[in-house]
Order: sequence, then structure tokens, then C-alpha cells
Amino acid sequence: MRIDYGYFEEDQLGKPYDVRLIRRLFPYVRPYGFLFLLSIGLVVAVTVLDLALPYLTKVAIDRYIVQEIQDDKPGVSQQQRFYVADLRILKVERVVSRYPSLFEVERPYALILYGDLSKLGKADLVELRATDYAGVARIAAIFLGIVICHFVFSFGHVIIMEYSGQSIMHDLRLRLFKHIQDLSAAFFTKNPVGRLVTRVTSDVQNLHEFFTSIVTVLFKDVFLVLGITVVLLVMNWQLALVCFLLLPFIFLATARFSRLARDAFREIRVKIAEINSRLQETIDGIRIIQLFLQEARNYARFRKLNHENYLAGMRQINIFAVFMPLIELLSSVTTALVIWYGGARVLSDSLSLGTLVAFIYYMRMFFRPIRDIAEKYNIMQSAMASAERIFLLFDNQERIREPETLMRMPRGATVNGVGETVSFDKVWFSYVAGDWVLEDISFTVRNGETVAIVGPTGAGKSTLIHLLERFYDPSRGSILVGRVDIRRVPKASLRGSMALITQDVFLFADTIRDNITAGNPELLPGRLKEIVAACNLDRLIKSLPHGLDTVMTEGGRTLSSGERQLVAFARALARDPEILILDEATSSVDTETERLIQEATLRLMQDRTSIVVAHRLSTIRHADRIIVLHGGRIRETGSHDELMAKQGLYYQLYQWQAVS
Ligand code: ADP
Repeated sequence: MRIDYGYFEEDQLGKPYDVRLIRRLFPYVRPYGFLFLLSIGLVVAVTVLDLALPYLTKVAIDRYIVQEIQDDKPGVSQQQRFYVADLRILKVERVVSRYPSLFEVERPYALILYGDLSKLGKADLVELRATDYAGVARIAAIFLGIVICHFVFSFGHVIIMEYSGQSIMHDLRLRLFKHIQDLSAAFFTKNPVGRLVTRVTSDVQNLHEFFTSIVTVLFKDVFLVLGITVVLLVMNWQLALVCFLLLPFIFLATARFSRLARDAFREIRVKIAEINSRLQETIDGIRIIQLFLQEARNYARFRKLNHENYLAGMRQINIFAVFMPLIELLSSVTTALVIWYGGARVLSDSLSLGTLVAFIYYMRMFFRPIRDIAEKYNIMQSAMASAERIFLLFDNQERIREPETLMRMPRGATVNGVGETVSFDKVWFSYVAGDWVLEDISFTVRNGETVAIVGPTGAGKSTLIHLLERFYDPSRGSILVGRVDIRRVPKASLRGSMALITQDVFLFADTIRDNITAGNPELLPGRLKEIVAACNLDRLIKSLPHGLDTVMTEGGRTLSSGERQLVAFARALARDPEILILDEATSSVDTETERLIQEATLRLMQDRTSIVVAHRLSTIRHADRIIVLHGGRIRETGSHDELMAKQGLYYQLYQWQAVS
């Protein structure tokens, strides 16, 4: 069976947008709503400025460089274009009087053929066209102003959008983390680590891309395309229609590209998921791989996967490599059409040169957003798939419910003077419906008693402990602590009154001191010292480079299992719990460590209600009572001597262990 580390659902892609999901994302956006609106406002402003630039060029050309044909000015013929000089300007009048043969005076204007302008002296020409020079300079200044505004607005837009995007992710990630942390143990047995890691990391990152690209795509690209379309139609609808001649091809190409790109994208994701999975499997099983000399085979399998990933990557590159130049080609063909059709109309004087230049400029701008939208399509799709997976996780409410009305956790010793610390009352439990792991379990542990639970592997011993700690709730029956149903007290105070030492001790990636005081942050230094001594940790701590302040690696893997066990004892003792639950380690340790652990265990159990899941029967001879569990049922109960005398299941187990 291939282990699913949770990467395999990465191949799913959603629709590029999904109203239901977007609506669910809304509460996360709301706190930054104002910033989002501001960002959208800025992007609209940037787009308007973008639209203004070609128009300004047109104005500069038509008004100042080559005067546009205007009906209210005289002397404009279709064949011969005249430059119209205004005689009311003194300097102009002076220039005109110097070249009487070139000018045709029709007060208050004087006309000169464009072709004849070159016959004027350079200084005279400058003087004659002084207002045009000023106009061109003014337009250039406005152009510059717009470009600077464009820069400032774009900067503001990007910063605000990234800030809000990052903040949304920040909040979402925190909420997700908290949600996961509160889920019940049952959830984690069903969901592999890899899956949850992807949820909190890359899925959240995908959503960030979604926020930023949706603002860019929806409010910039679409707006720009629409804006250009309107401006072109208003400027000259015939030429505009020529520009749009190739649009159907562009839409076809874009649709085809999106589909191909989506398939390639999906394939890459699947391959990456497989690579991740193989890597995780390799790391998890590295000892077995090395032990069974599987390196070469494992390497070959990875090499194959890696090559497939490379091929998928190349396919995607090929698709982009065709699409991008294709759009470029169509854009150039459109420009050629505009030059051909528009140029002819300029020649026949039915279109101004400025309009033609502006059209070419606009057409170049028109294709950029189309390319952008096609590119962003994938991002939006994968973001929607990520959003779906994140919300699916949020919807999972597999948690141990806190009671509606919280009761204080009773101190076991004082409750009604009865002195029952823990009792199981007809408890049934199954992980999978119908498959009972515990059946009709009833027993009581009185104050200060030590009760041992024994039984073969799979008997349900650990499950029993899980129920007591409320990692799961019983399917039937109830568990009482201090005569109160544990479902009626807050989880925190229930767990606070117990210390659980499991077989596989987990230490935080922190100092030994912090690991011990995690049980009780208010521990006094003097008490810490006592605890360290009581748990036989002195020698270990002396041997560490920084003593108590030595930082552990994650899980405490640098310590031996016996040493970890001792640190766990210290952590439990620091908490000074009323009930001690000990799931005895099965792994064998050397006799010296065994002795240290035995000593520490006894000190820990002194004057404390203790429940010990025992694997080495020799260690529980002193227990007040022994419960023998088999197949989820209690088979025998009694002291060691009683059970031995009975010659039943316990006796058999004892004989087996004695022999082995
Ligand atoms: P013991 O501690 O006595 O070895 P456990 O309490 O760990 O036994 O397991 C009892 C039974 O419950 C076993 O058959 C085991 O396969 C099953 N089991 C344990 N944990 C789970 C789980 N998370 N999901 C489903 N079945 C489980």
C-alpha cells in the first residue's frame, strides 16, 4: 500500500472562481476592507493614467506638431495642408512680413504650405511656431507628471495590497493553527501530517496569490481592456473595429491555452506531490532502506519521478512558449492592420496622424492584460482548490466538547470523604463504529492506590488511558474522577490534575529546564533541584554541555529512551499531579538505567493515586490491585498473589514472561 502523506489531493483544481468560497473568504477580508477599497481605488487611478498617456501623445501630435484639420480655420484643403499662423502675435507678424511670397494672408491668419516651412530660416521657424513649442513642452510636462503619479499610485497600490494580503494570510494561518490544535486525537489518526502541513503552509500561500491577483486581474486588467475598447470606439469607431478584427482568434487561443496550461499545471502538481511523498517515505523509513540495502532501488524510483516532473515542467514551458509569442504575433498583426488601414486614412486626410499613433499605442497596451488574465487563470484555480481544502478543515469539528456549564475539578481526596479518585462505570468504546475495543469496563481506584493494568498487546490498555485523559469520549458509560463525570469538567483542569507518562516520551525542542517546567511554569528553583535529584537526572544533566539549559532537538532524539523517560518523570513531578498515569515503556534499557527509572517511579508514585499500564510484570508486584484486560474486557482483578493463586490469565502471562 502506498502511504498517503496527504499530498495526493494536490492534483485537484477548482473553478477559477467559486462564489460560495469567495463569500466564505469575505470575513477574513473584512477587517482590511478599507485598505482593499483603497487599493482598488489606486489601481483604477493607475489604469486611468495608463489610458491617458496615448491620448496625450495624440494631442501633442495633432495640436502642436502636425495641426489637425479644423473646419473653423480657413485655407484647409484636402490636397494641400497649410500651416496656419496667427498674425495677432507680434513675433509671428514679423516673420510673415519677412517672407511675403510664402504666406497667403487672410487676416487675422496667414497660411503657409507645410512643405514651405522648411524654406524659412531656422530662427524664424522657431519664432513662428513658438506657441507650438510651448504646447509640446507643456504636454511633455503633463506626461512626466502622469508618469510620476503613476509610479506613486502603483507603489501605494502594491504596498497596500501586499500588506492586506499578508495580513489576511497571517490571520487565517493563526485561526487554522488554533483550529488544528484543538482537534481531537481521533482526527489526527485519520489525517497524515503532510496534509495538515500543506494546509497551513502552501494552501494559505496560494490564497495570498489569489487575493493579489484578483485585485490585479479584475480591477486592472479587465478595467484596462474595457477602457481601451471604449476610448478606441469613441476616437474612431471604424478603425476600432479594424483593431478588433482579430479578437475572436485571440479569445480562441486564450481559451485553448488556459485548458492546456491547466492540464500541464495539474500534472506538475501531481508529480510534485509524488516527489514529496517519496521523500517523506524515504526519510521516515531511512533505517529500513539502509538496512535492507534498498538505496539503489529507492534512488531509481525517485529518479524516474524526478524525470517525469521535469517532462511535465517542459510541457508547461512549451505551452507558454507557444502562447506568449502567439499573442505577440496577433498583437503585431493587429498593429500592421492599424497601420495599413489607418495609414491610408491619414493619407486621405480622414484621420489625424495623432489618432493613428494613439491607436498603435493603445493596441500594444491592449494585449498585455489579455496575456495576464490567461496567466492568472491557473493561480485562481489552484487558489480556489486551496480555499476549498482549508474550509473543509475548518468545517471539521471533531473535537472533544467542553461542557456547557463548567464544574470545578474536585480534589479527589476530599470529595465527600469517599476517596474514590477514578472510576470507570460500564464503559464501552470503539474507534470504528461497531468494532468494540473496550467492552463494559468497570473498576474503581481509591485515593493513594496503585492499580496496574496488564494484558497482551491490543487488549485496549492504551485506549483505556486515552479515555481517562479525554482524548476520546466513551461510546457508552461514564468515567468519574472524584465522583464527577469527566465530561462535566473543563478539559484543562481534568488534564491538569493528571500526569501522563507515555511509552514514547516527547520532549519539546527547548531546554531541559523548560521541558521540566512545562508541567508547572511557577516552579521554584529549589524545587526544580529536588525534582532533578528525585528523578535521578543529576548525572545526565552534569554530562550535558550546558546542563539544564541544554537545548533538546525536536522530540528529544539526542537522549536515550531511558533518559527521556527520566525527564518525563521530572516533568510529571513538577506538576505534582493528583493522579499519575504511567504507560510503561516496552523498550528495554540497560540495567543501570532500569534501576534509576524504578527508583524514580517509586518516588513519583509515593502518596499518589497511580494507574500503571505494565508490560514487565515484575515491576507491578507491589501494586494494590492488578486488572487483567484481554480482548477489551476485564478478565481478572486482584493482587499479584491472588492472581497467581488463581492460575488464570495473569498466571499464564507471568509464566510466559518468566520464560522469555
Ligand atoms: P494496547 O495498549 O493494549 O496494546 P490499544 O489500546 O493500543 O491496545 O489498542 C486496542 C485496539 O484498538 C487494537 O486492536 C488497535 O488496533 C485498536 N486501535 C488503537 N488505536 C486505534 C485508532 N486510532 N483507530 C482505530 N483502532 C485503533
